[in-house]
Amino acid sequence: MVALQPLLELQKIDTALSQLVHRQANLDERKVLAAAKAALVASQGENARLTAELTASKDEISSLESANKKCEAQIAKYSQQLKTVIAPREAEALQHEIETVRTERSANDDKELQLLETSENLELQLRLTVEQINELSAGVASATAALNEALKICEDEKKSLDEKRHGVASAIDSKLIKLYDVKRTKRTTAAVADLHGSKCQSCHLDLSVVELSALKKLGAEEFAECPNCDCYLVV
Ligand SMILES: [Zn+2]
Repeated sequence: MVALQPLLELQKIDTALSQLVHRQANLDERKVLAAAKAALVASQGENARLTAELTASKDEISSLESANKKCEAQIAKYSQQLKTVIAPREAEALQHEIETVRTERSANDDKELQLLETSENLELQLRLTVEQINELSAGVASATAALNEALKICEDEKKSLDEKRHGVASAIDSKLIKLYDVKRTKRTTAAVADLHGSKCQSCHLDLSVVELSALKKLGAEEFAECPNCDCYLVV
């Protein structure tokens, strides 16, 4: 039976490498960063909404103010006219006009007061969201740093595993490596495993007594393979 112990070493490194890839793709730091970014985006959205609302409120205040300037001008004009009219019916009509404009002006003042209060509230909320954005930005920065740190650890680990793999692989016959590579491409579980008792460490199934004794009778050029999962076995 061909000795496969060196391949088992290689398999252990390859298993560690694929676990590392999985770990790197599923780092908790990624989730933390994604959540921090989402919170920041939400807060920025809220800030934009409040800013737009404040602008609209201020625009409405200035249009009310210019409407009231027109009202003032009209009241002044009618009051001036009132001084010169003689006919009581005309005077009455002018007074009625003045009353109407005054009512309009007063309604505008009420609206403006409400809008001023709304604007003040919006400004307060805006200040709070700005503070929140600053805090959340700092959170994103530290989450980014934490992720980069975690990725660096993975990279270092990969580098050392790659070096170890190179050392182990260079000591193995290239024909054997080829067989191992072919076997590996056909499966997701270990291509080489040993037995713990009668249990294959790739598929974790027990080999029967008959299967075990068949393995022991293999010729010098033959490979031991698991009858259940077909991996190479180190017996
Ligand atoms: Zn197996």
